[in-house]
Amino acid sequence: MTATTGDTAGDRSGWAGHPRGLSTLFFTEMWERFSYYGMRALLILYMTAPITANGLGFDTARAASIYGWYTFGVYAAAIPGGWVADRFLGQYRSVFWGGVIIALGHFSLAIAALPFFYLGLALIVAGTGLLKPNVSTMVGSLYQQNDARRDAGFSIFYMGINIGAGVAPLVVGTLGQRVDWHVGFAAAGVGMVLGLIQYVLGKKRLQPALTRLDQAARAGEAGRVGVAEPPGFTAKEWKRIGAIGVFFVAAILFWGAFEQAGSSLNLFADRMTRLTVLGWSFPSTWFQSLNSAFLIALAPVFAWLWVSLGQREPTSPVKFTLGLLFVGLGFLLLVPAASMAQQGVLVSPLWLTGVYLLHTIGELCLSPVGLSVVTKLAPGRIVGLMMGVWFLATAFGNKLGGWVAGFFDTLPLPMLFGAVAATTIASALVLLALVRPVKKLMGGVH
Ligand code: GLN
Repeated sequence: MTATTGDTAGDRSGWAGHPRGLSTLFFTEMWERFSYYGMRALLILYMTAPITANGLGFDTARAASIYGWYTFGVYAAAIPGGWVADRFLGQYRSVFWGGVIIALGHFSLAIAALPFFYLGLALIVAGTGLLKPNVSTMVGSLYQQNDARRDAGFSIFYMGINIGAGVAPLVVGTLGQRVDWHVGFAAAGVGMVLGLIQYVLGKKRLQPALTRLDQAARAGEAGRVGVAEPPGFTAKEWKRIGAIGVFFVAAILFWGAFEQAGSSLNLFADRMTRLTVLGWSFPSTWFQSLNSAFLIALAPVFAWLWVSLGQREPTSPVKFTLGLLFVGLGFLLLVPAASMAQQGVLVSPLWLTGVYLLHTIGELCLSPVGLSVVTKLAPGRIVGLMMGVWFLATAFGNKLGGWVAGFFDTLPLPMLFGAVAATTIASALVLLALVRPVKKLMGGVH
Protein backbone atom coordinates (compact mmCIF):
# COMPACT_ATOMS: atom_id res chain seq x y z
CA MET A 1 0.00 0.00 0.00
CA THR A 2 1.18 3.49 -0.71
CA ALA A 3 1.08 5.92 2.14
CA THR A 4 -0.52 8.64 0.05
CA THR A 5 -4.15 8.88 -1.02
CA GLY A 6 -3.22 6.95 -4.15
CA ASP A 7 -2.92 9.97 -6.35
CA THR A 8 -1.19 9.08 -9.62
CA ALA A 9 -1.93 12.38 -11.30
CA GLY A 10 1.72 13.17 -10.96
CA ASP A 11 3.00 9.67 -11.74
CA ARG A 12 4.96 9.95 -14.93
CA SER A 13 7.41 7.20 -14.16
CA GLY A 14 5.99 4.68 -16.66
CA TRP A 15 6.05 4.54 -20.45
CA ALA A 16 6.08 7.89 -22.25
CA GLY A 17 5.35 9.77 -19.04
CA HIS A 18 2.32 7.63 -18.17
CA PRO A 19 1.59 6.02 -14.79
CA ARG A 20 3.55 2.84 -14.18
CA GLY A 21 0.44 0.70 -13.96
CA LEU A 22 -0.32 1.25 -17.64
CA SER A 23 2.28 -1.29 -18.77
CA THR A 24 0.85 -3.95 -16.45
CA LEU A 25 -2.65 -3.48 -17.86
CA PHE A 26 -1.25 -3.25 -21.39
CA PHE A 27 0.34 -6.71 -21.12
CA THR A 28 -2.66 -8.21 -19.32
CA GLU A 29 -4.98 -7.13 -22.13
CA MET A 30 -2.40 -8.01 -24.79
CA TRP A 31 -2.24 -11.62 -23.58
CA GLU A 32 -5.99 -11.85 -23.06
CA ARG A 33 -6.59 -10.66 -26.64
CA PHE A 34 -3.85 -13.04 -27.82
CA SER A 35 -5.83 -15.91 -26.35
CA TYR A 36 -9.18 -14.58 -27.61
CA TYR A 37 -8.18 -13.89 -31.21
CA GLY A 38 -5.89 -16.90 -31.45
CA MET A 39 -8.70 -19.22 -30.48
CA ARG A 40 -11.21 -17.31 -32.62
CA ALA A 41 -9.01 -17.72 -35.69
CA LEU A 42 -9.39 -21.50 -35.31
CA LEU A 43 -12.95 -21.71 -34.01
CA ILE A 44 -15.09 -21.83 -37.16
CA LEU A 45 -12.46 -23.80 -39.09
CA TYR A 46 -12.30 -26.40 -36.30
CA MET A 47 -16.08 -26.67 -36.09
CA THR A 48 -16.49 -27.12 -39.85
CA ALA A 49 -13.48 -29.40 -40.39
CA PRO A 50 -14.56 -33.00 -41.06
CA ILE A 51 -14.17 -35.53 -38.26
CA THR A 52 -11.54 -37.29 -40.36
CA ALA A 53 -9.46 -34.10 -40.09
CA ASN A 54 -9.99 -34.10 -36.31
CA GLY A 55 -12.62 -31.34 -36.60
CA LEU A 56 -16.13 -31.38 -35.21
CA GLY A 57 -17.74 -31.98 -38.61
CA PHE A 58 -20.50 -29.38 -38.11
CA ASP A 59 -22.17 -27.92 -41.18
CA THR A 60 -21.41 -24.24 -41.81
CA ALA A 61 -24.85 -23.02 -40.72
CA ARG A 62 -24.56 -24.71 -37.34
CA ALA A 63 -20.97 -23.59 -36.86
CA ALA A 64 -21.86 -19.98 -37.72
CA SER A 65 -24.73 -20.05 -35.27
CA ILE A 66 -22.46 -21.24 -32.43
CA TYR A 67 -19.85 -18.67 -33.51
CA GLY A 68 -22.53 -15.94 -33.38
CA TRP A 69 -23.78 -16.95 -29.92
CA TYR A 70 -20.27 -17.34 -28.53
CA THR A 71 -18.99 -13.97 -29.74
CA PHE A 72 -22.27 -12.36 -28.66
CA GLY A 73 -21.83 -13.88 -25.22
CA VAL A 74 -18.24 -12.76 -24.81
CA TYR A 75 -19.19 -9.09 -25.20
CA ALA A 76 -22.64 -9.22 -23.58
CA ALA A 77 -21.04 -10.73 -20.46
CA ALA A 78 -19.28 -7.40 -19.96
CA ILE A 79 -22.47 -6.04 -18.41
CA PRO A 80 -22.77 -8.54 -15.54
CA GLY A 81 -18.95 -8.58 -15.36
CA GLY A 82 -18.78 -4.84 -14.66
CA TRP A 83 -21.57 -5.17 -12.13
CA VAL A 84 -19.90 -8.03 -10.25
CA ALA A 85 -16.70 -5.96 -9.99
CA ASP A 86 -18.52 -2.89 -8.72
CA ARG A 87 -20.63 -4.79 -6.20
CA PHE A 88 -18.59 -7.73 -5.03
CA LEU A 89 -15.11 -8.49 -6.23
CA GLY A 90 -13.61 -5.12 -7.07
CA GLN A 91 -11.72 -4.51 -10.31
CA TYR A 92 -8.43 -6.16 -9.42
CA ARG A 93 -9.84 -9.49 -8.33
CA SER A 94 -12.40 -9.53 -11.17
CA VAL A 95 -9.64 -9.28 -13.74
CA PHE A 96 -7.61 -11.93 -11.95
CA TRP A 97 -10.43 -14.46 -11.69
CA GLY A 98 -11.60 -13.58 -15.18
CA GLY A 99 -8.14 -14.47 -16.49
CA VAL A 100 -8.08 -17.74 -14.54
CA ILE A 101 -11.49 -18.73 -15.94
CA ILE A 102 -10.44 -17.78 -19.50
CA ALA A 103 -7.28 -19.90 -19.24
CA LEU A 104 -9.31 -22.85 -17.94
CA GLY A 105 -11.66 -22.34 -20.88
CA HIS A 106 -8.87 -22.63 -23.43
CA PHE A 107 -7.42 -25.68 -21.67
CA SER A 108 -10.86 -27.23 -21.73
CA LEU A 109 -10.98 -26.70 -25.52
CA ALA A 110 -7.63 -28.43 -25.70
CA ILE A 111 -9.37 -31.66 -24.64
CA ALA A 112 -10.77 -33.44 -27.69
CA ALA A 113 -14.31 -34.19 -26.50
CA LEU A 114 -17.52 -32.31 -27.31
CA PRO A 115 -18.63 -31.57 -23.72
CA PHE A 116 -15.24 -29.95 -23.07
CA PHE A 117 -15.68 -27.89 -26.23
CA TYR A 118 -18.93 -26.37 -24.96
CA LEU A 119 -17.60 -26.05 -21.42
CA GLY A 120 -14.58 -24.19 -22.79
CA LEU A 121 -16.74 -21.71 -24.72
CA ALA A 122 -18.90 -21.06 -21.64
CA LEU A 123 -15.84 -20.48 -19.45
CA ILE A 124 -14.30 -18.04 -21.94
CA VAL A 125 -17.57 -16.09 -22.10
CA ALA A 126 -17.78 -15.83 -18.30
CA GLY A 127 -14.10 -15.04 -17.86
CA THR A 128 -14.00 -12.38 -20.57
CA GLY A 129 -17.07 -10.75 -19.05
CA LEU A 130 -15.12 -10.40 -15.82
CA LEU A 131 -11.84 -9.33 -17.37
CA LYS A 132 -12.50 -7.08 -20.36
CA PRO A 133 -14.68 -4.26 -19.00
CA ASN A 134 -12.77 -4.09 -15.74
CA VAL A 135 -9.30 -3.93 -17.20
CA SER A 136 -10.55 -0.90 -19.21
CA THR A 137 -12.02 0.67 -16.09
CA MET A 138 -8.65 0.27 -14.40
CA VAL A 139 -6.90 1.99 -17.31
CA GLY A 140 -9.27 4.92 -16.82
CA SER A 141 -8.58 5.01 -13.09
CA LEU A 142 -4.83 5.34 -13.61
CA TYR A 143 -5.64 8.97 -14.32
CA GLN A 144 -7.48 11.60 -12.37
CA GLN A 145 -10.74 12.94 -13.72
CA ASN A 146 -9.29 15.73 -15.83
CA ASP A 147 -5.93 14.22 -16.68
CA ALA A 148 -5.11 15.14 -20.26
CA ARG A 149 -3.08 11.93 -20.69
CA ARG A 150 -6.15 9.70 -20.43
CA ASP A 151 -7.02 9.51 -24.16
CA ALA A 152 -3.40 8.85 -25.06
CA GLY A 153 -3.34 6.16 -22.38
CA PHE A 154 -6.29 4.44 -24.03
CA SER A 155 -4.59 4.67 -27.43
CA ILE A 156 -1.51 2.92 -26.03
CA PHE A 157 -3.80 0.32 -24.47
CA TYR A 158 -5.53 -0.22 -27.86
CA MET A 159 -2.09 -0.93 -29.32
CA GLY A 160 -1.64 -3.67 -26.72
CA ILE A 161 -4.95 -5.18 -27.83
CA ASN A 162 -3.78 -5.27 -31.41
CA ILE A 163 -0.29 -6.58 -30.76
CA GLY A 164 -1.89 -9.53 -28.98
CA ALA A 165 -4.55 -9.93 -31.65
CA GLY A 166 -2.01 -9.63 -34.46
CA VAL A 167 0.54 -12.13 -33.19
CA ALA A 168 -2.02 -14.71 -32.04
CA PRO A 169 -3.05 -16.08 -35.45
CA LEU A 170 0.61 -16.54 -36.37
CA VAL A 171 1.24 -18.67 -33.28
CA VAL A 172 -2.10 -20.20 -32.26
CA GLY A 173 -3.38 -20.37 -35.84
CA THR A 174 -0.25 -22.04 -37.16
CA LEU A 175 -0.10 -24.57 -34.30
CA GLY A 176 -3.81 -25.31 -34.69
CA GLN A 177 -3.76 -25.72 -38.46
CA ARG A 178 -0.34 -27.26 -38.95
CA VAL A 179 0.11 -29.35 -35.78
CA ASP A 180 -3.21 -30.06 -34.09
CA TRP A 181 -6.32 -27.99 -33.30
CA HIS A 182 -6.00 -28.76 -29.61
CA VAL A 183 -2.37 -27.74 -29.42
CA GLY A 184 -3.51 -24.39 -30.81
CA PHE A 185 -6.20 -24.02 -28.13
CA ALA A 186 -3.70 -24.98 -25.43
CA ALA A 187 -1.31 -22.29 -26.72
CA ALA A 188 -4.08 -19.71 -26.33
CA GLY A 189 -4.42 -20.83 -22.69
CA VAL A 190 -0.68 -20.59 -22.12
CA GLY A 191 -0.79 -17.00 -23.38
CA MET A 192 -3.48 -16.13 -20.86
CA VAL A 193 -1.43 -17.72 -18.07
CA LEU A 194 1.59 -15.58 -19.01
CA GLY A 195 -0.65 -12.52 -18.89
CA LEU A 196 -1.87 -13.53 -15.43
CA ILE A 197 1.63 -14.05 -14.08
CA GLN A 198 2.76 -10.58 -15.08
CA TYR A 199 -0.56 -9.14 -13.78
CA VAL A 200 0.06 -10.58 -10.32
CA LEU A 201 3.72 -9.53 -10.37
CA GLY A 202 2.69 -6.00 -11.39
CA LYS A 203 0.05 -5.56 -8.69
CA LYS A 204 2.13 -3.02 -6.80
CA ARG A 205 2.19 -0.75 -9.83
CA LEU A 206 -1.60 -0.74 -9.86
CA GLN A 207 -1.98 0.13 -6.22
CA PRO A 208 -2.57 3.87 -6.67
CA ALA A 209 -5.28 3.17 -9.24
CA LEU A 210 -6.87 0.55 -7.00
CA THR A 211 -6.90 2.96 -4.09
CA ARG A 212 -8.59 5.54 -6.28
CA LEU A 213 -11.23 3.03 -7.42
CA ASP A 214 -11.82 2.04 -3.85
CA GLN A 215 -12.33 5.61 -2.74
CA ALA A 216 -14.64 6.31 -5.66
CA ALA A 217 -16.70 3.22 -4.85
CA ARG A 218 -17.00 4.23 -1.23
CA ALA A 219 -17.97 7.75 -2.21
CA GLY A 220 -20.66 6.17 -4.38
CA GLU A 221 -19.29 7.65 -7.57
CA ALA A 222 -17.70 4.61 -9.12
CA GLY A 223 -19.26 5.63 -12.38
CA ARG A 224 -21.78 2.82 -12.31
CA VAL A 225 -25.30 3.36 -11.12
CA GLY A 226 -27.51 1.07 -9.09
CA VAL A 227 -30.96 0.25 -10.40
CA ALA A 228 -32.42 2.01 -7.39
CA GLU A 229 -31.32 5.45 -8.47
CA PRO A 230 -34.18 7.37 -10.00
CA PRO A 231 -33.48 8.36 -13.59
CA GLY A 232 -35.15 11.77 -13.64
CA PHE A 233 -33.28 12.95 -16.71
CA THR A 234 -33.56 16.49 -17.93
CA ALA A 235 -34.74 17.21 -21.49
CA LYS A 236 -31.13 17.84 -22.49
CA GLU A 237 -30.03 14.50 -21.07
CA TRP A 238 -32.83 12.69 -22.87
CA LYS A 239 -31.70 14.23 -26.15
CA ARG A 240 -28.16 13.07 -25.58
CA ILE A 241 -29.37 9.59 -24.72
CA GLY A 242 -31.27 9.72 -28.02
CA ALA A 243 -28.03 10.51 -29.83
CA ILE A 244 -26.37 7.52 -28.11
CA GLY A 245 -29.31 5.46 -29.43
CA VAL A 246 -28.48 6.45 -33.03
CA PHE A 247 -24.78 5.62 -32.51
CA PHE A 248 -25.82 2.32 -30.92
CA VAL A 249 -27.75 1.21 -34.02
CA ALA A 250 -24.96 2.34 -36.34
CA ALA A 251 -22.40 0.46 -34.23
CA ILE A 252 -24.42 -2.78 -34.38
CA LEU A 253 -24.49 -2.59 -38.18
CA PHE A 254 -20.79 -1.76 -38.34
CA TRP A 255 -19.66 -4.62 -36.06
CA GLY A 256 -22.15 -6.94 -37.78
CA ALA A 257 -20.09 -6.56 -40.95
CA PHE A 258 -16.65 -6.09 -39.38
CA GLU A 259 -16.77 -9.05 -36.97
CA GLN A 260 -17.35 -11.48 -39.85
CA ALA A 261 -13.56 -11.45 -39.95
CA GLY A 262 -13.55 -14.58 -37.81
CA SER A 263 -16.43 -16.28 -39.62
CA SER A 264 -17.29 -15.68 -43.29
CA LEU A 265 -14.01 -13.93 -44.16
CA ASN A 266 -12.08 -16.67 -42.38
CA LEU A 267 -13.96 -19.30 -44.42
CA PHE A 268 -13.36 -17.30 -47.61
CA ALA A 269 -9.64 -17.29 -46.83
CA ASP A 270 -9.62 -21.00 -46.07
CA ARG A 271 -11.68 -22.25 -48.99
CA MET A 272 -11.47 -19.73 -51.82
CA THR A 273 -8.16 -17.90 -51.50
CA ARG A 274 -4.77 -18.91 -52.87
CA LEU A 275 -2.59 -19.44 -49.82
CA THR A 276 0.78 -19.02 -51.45
CA VAL A 277 3.03 -16.04 -51.97
CA LEU A 278 5.99 -16.49 -54.34
CA GLY A 279 5.70 -20.24 -54.05
CA TRP A 280 5.66 -20.21 -50.24
CA SER A 281 2.49 -21.43 -48.55
CA PHE A 282 1.00 -20.09 -45.34
CA PRO A 283 -1.94 -21.09 -43.08
CA SER A 284 -5.30 -19.44 -43.84
CA THR A 285 -5.61 -18.11 -40.28
CA TRP A 286 -2.76 -15.68 -40.99
CA PHE A 287 -5.26 -13.37 -42.67
CA GLN A 288 -6.63 -12.79 -39.18
CA SER A 289 -3.49 -10.80 -38.38
CA LEU A 290 -4.00 -8.22 -41.11
CA ASN A 291 -6.55 -6.10 -39.28
CA SER A 292 -4.24 -5.62 -36.31
CA ALA A 293 -1.18 -5.05 -38.47
CA PHE A 294 -2.98 -2.34 -40.43
CA LEU A 295 -4.36 -0.87 -37.23
CA ILE A 296 -0.93 -0.55 -35.63
CA ALA A 297 0.44 1.03 -38.82
CA LEU A 298 -2.45 3.42 -39.36
CA ALA A 299 -3.42 4.51 -35.84
CA PRO A 300 -0.67 7.15 -35.68
CA VAL A 301 -1.62 8.35 -39.17
CA PHE A 302 -5.22 8.86 -38.09
CA ALA A 303 -4.22 10.54 -34.84
CA TRP A 304 -2.13 12.94 -36.90
CA LEU A 305 -4.89 13.40 -39.49
CA TRP A 306 -7.57 14.41 -36.97
CA VAL A 307 -5.24 16.85 -35.25
CA SER A 308 -4.02 18.38 -38.48
CA LEU A 309 -7.58 18.91 -39.68
CA GLY A 310 -8.09 21.16 -36.66
CA GLN A 311 -11.46 22.89 -36.90
CA ARG A 312 -12.32 20.76 -39.92
CA GLU A 313 -11.98 17.48 -38.00
CA PRO A 314 -15.17 15.52 -38.74
CA THR A 315 -17.70 15.32 -35.91
CA SER A 316 -18.61 11.99 -34.30
CA PRO A 317 -21.70 11.33 -36.50
CA VAL A 318 -19.60 11.98 -39.61
CA LYS A 319 -16.89 9.61 -38.38
CA PHE A 320 -19.55 6.96 -37.77
CA THR A 321 -20.78 7.51 -41.33
CA LEU A 322 -17.24 6.98 -42.62
CA GLY A 323 -16.90 3.84 -40.54
CA LEU A 324 -20.03 2.33 -42.09
CA LEU A 325 -18.98 3.44 -45.55
CA PHE A 326 -15.53 1.83 -45.37
CA VAL A 327 -16.75 -1.46 -43.95
CA GLY A 328 -19.31 -1.46 -46.77
CA LEU A 329 -16.63 -0.77 -49.39
CA GLY A 330 -14.67 -3.71 -48.01
CA PHE A 331 -17.60 -6.04 -48.66
CA LEU A 332 -18.14 -4.44 -52.07
CA LEU A 333 -14.56 -5.37 -52.96
CA LEU A 334 -15.36 -8.96 -52.05
CA VAL A 335 -18.15 -9.17 -54.64
CA PRO A 336 -15.90 -9.52 -57.73
CA ALA A 337 -13.54 -11.76 -55.74
CA ALA A 338 -16.43 -14.02 -54.77
CA SER A 339 -17.65 -14.10 -58.39
CA MET A 340 -14.22 -15.29 -59.50
CA ALA A 341 -14.15 -17.86 -56.72
CA GLN A 342 -17.49 -19.15 -57.98
CA GLN A 343 -15.80 -20.09 -61.25
CA GLY A 344 -13.73 -22.47 -59.18
CA VAL A 345 -10.45 -20.53 -59.07
CA LEU A 346 -8.59 -19.69 -55.90
CA VAL A 347 -8.44 -15.90 -55.78
CA SER A 348 -5.38 -13.80 -55.06
CA PRO A 349 -4.61 -13.10 -51.36
CA LEU A 350 -4.55 -9.42 -52.32
CA TRP A 351 -8.36 -9.32 -52.35
CA LEU A 352 -8.73 -10.08 -48.66
CA THR A 353 -5.75 -7.86 -47.90
CA GLY A 354 -7.62 -4.97 -49.51
CA VAL A 355 -10.78 -5.87 -47.62
CA TYR A 356 -9.00 -5.84 -44.26
CA LEU A 357 -7.34 -2.53 -45.10
CA LEU A 358 -10.73 -0.92 -45.81
CA HIS A 359 -12.23 -2.49 -42.68
CA THR A 360 -9.38 -1.19 -40.53
CA ILE A 361 -9.86 2.34 -41.89
CA GLY A 362 -13.52 2.02 -40.92
CA GLU A 363 -12.58 0.76 -37.47
CA LEU A 364 -10.25 3.72 -36.92
CA CYS A 365 -13.07 6.11 -37.82
CA LEU A 366 -15.65 4.50 -35.58
CA SER A 367 -14.29 2.45 -32.70
CA PRO A 368 -12.22 4.93 -30.65
CA VAL A 369 -14.81 7.64 -31.26
CA GLY A 370 -17.58 5.38 -30.05
CA LEU A 371 -15.95 4.85 -26.69
CA SER A 372 -15.24 8.48 -26.04
CA VAL A 373 -18.53 9.85 -27.33
CA VAL A 374 -20.44 7.53 -25.02
CA THR A 375 -18.47 8.74 -22.01
CA LYS A 376 -19.07 12.34 -23.07
CA LEU A 377 -22.79 12.04 -23.83
CA ALA A 378 -23.98 9.79 -21.03
CA PRO A 379 -25.30 11.55 -17.93
CA GLY A 380 -22.56 11.11 -15.29
CA ARG A 381 -24.58 8.83 -13.05
CA ILE A 382 -25.20 6.22 -15.75
CA VAL A 383 -21.88 6.30 -17.59
CA GLY A 384 -21.01 2.77 -16.46
CA LEU A 385 -24.34 1.49 -17.72
CA MET A 386 -23.82 3.28 -21.02
CA MET A 387 -20.36 1.71 -21.34
CA GLY A 388 -22.08 -1.65 -20.98
CA VAL A 389 -24.48 -0.57 -23.69
CA TRP A 390 -21.51 0.15 -25.98
CA PHE A 391 -20.18 -3.38 -25.43
CA LEU A 392 -23.72 -4.63 -26.07
CA ALA A 393 -23.60 -3.06 -29.54
CA THR A 394 -20.52 -5.19 -30.26
CA ALA A 395 -22.36 -8.21 -28.86
CA PHE A 396 -25.40 -7.67 -31.11
CA GLY A 397 -23.10 -6.94 -34.03
CA ASN A 398 -21.33 -10.26 -33.52
CA LYS A 399 -24.66 -12.06 -33.38
CA LEU A 400 -25.76 -10.34 -36.59
CA GLY A 401 -22.47 -11.26 -38.26
CA GLY A 402 -22.83 -14.88 -37.18
CA TRP A 403 -26.32 -14.94 -38.64
CA VAL A 404 -25.06 -13.63 -41.99
CA ALA A 405 -22.19 -16.12 -42.03
CA GLY A 406 -24.79 -18.88 -41.60
CA PHE A 407 -25.74 -18.37 -45.28
CA PHE A 408 -22.18 -18.97 -46.48
CA ASP A 409 -22.99 -22.36 -48.00
CA THR A 410 -26.57 -21.69 -49.07
CA LEU A 411 -26.52 -18.30 -50.81
CA PRO A 412 -24.30 -17.37 -53.76
CA LEU A 413 -21.38 -15.55 -52.13
CA PRO A 414 -21.40 -12.47 -54.40
CA MET A 415 -25.03 -12.02 -53.37
CA LEU A 416 -24.32 -12.51 -49.65
CA PHE A 417 -21.36 -10.11 -49.60
CA GLY A 418 -23.24 -7.71 -51.88
CA ALA A 419 -26.15 -7.63 -49.43
CA VAL A 420 -23.80 -6.77 -46.55
CA ALA A 421 -22.22 -4.03 -48.69
CA ALA A 422 -25.62 -2.64 -49.71
CA THR A 423 -26.91 -2.61 -46.13
CA THR A 424 -23.89 -0.89 -44.63
CA ILE A 425 -23.48 1.65 -47.44
CA ALA A 426 -27.21 2.47 -47.36
CA SER A 427 -26.97 2.92 -43.57
CA ALA A 428 -24.01 5.23 -44.09
CA LEU A 429 -26.19 7.36 -46.37
CA VAL A 430 -29.06 7.39 -43.87
CA LEU A 431 -26.66 8.43 -41.11
CA LEU A 432 -25.24 11.14 -43.34
CA ALA A 433 -28.76 12.54 -43.70
CA LEU A 434 -29.10 12.39 -39.91
CA VAL A 435 -25.86 14.25 -39.13
CA ARG A 436 -27.58 17.56 -38.50
CA PRO A 437 -30.42 16.30 -36.29
CA VAL A 438 -27.99 14.10 -34.33
CA LYS A 439 -25.70 17.07 -33.76
CA LYS A 440 -28.68 18.94 -32.37
CA LEU A 441 -29.43 16.06 -30.02
CA MET A 442 -25.83 16.06 -28.85
CA GLY A 443 -26.23 19.63 -27.66
CA GLY A 444 -22.73 21.01 -27.94
CA VAL A 445 -20.76 17.74 -27.57
CA HIS A 446 -18.74 16.79 -30.67
N1 GLN B 1 -10.58 -5.18 -31.56
C1 GLN B 1 -11.06 -4.56 -30.37
C2 GLN B 1 -10.94 -5.48 -29.19
O1 GLN B 1 -10.79 -6.65 -29.33
C3 GLN B 1 -12.50 -4.06 -30.52
C4 GLN B 1 -13.46 -5.15 -30.76
C5 GLN B 1 -14.89 -4.68 -30.71
O2 GLN B 1 -15.30 -3.82 -29.92
N2 GLN B 1 -15.71 -5.25 -31.54
O3 GLN B 1 -11.00 -5.06 -28.08
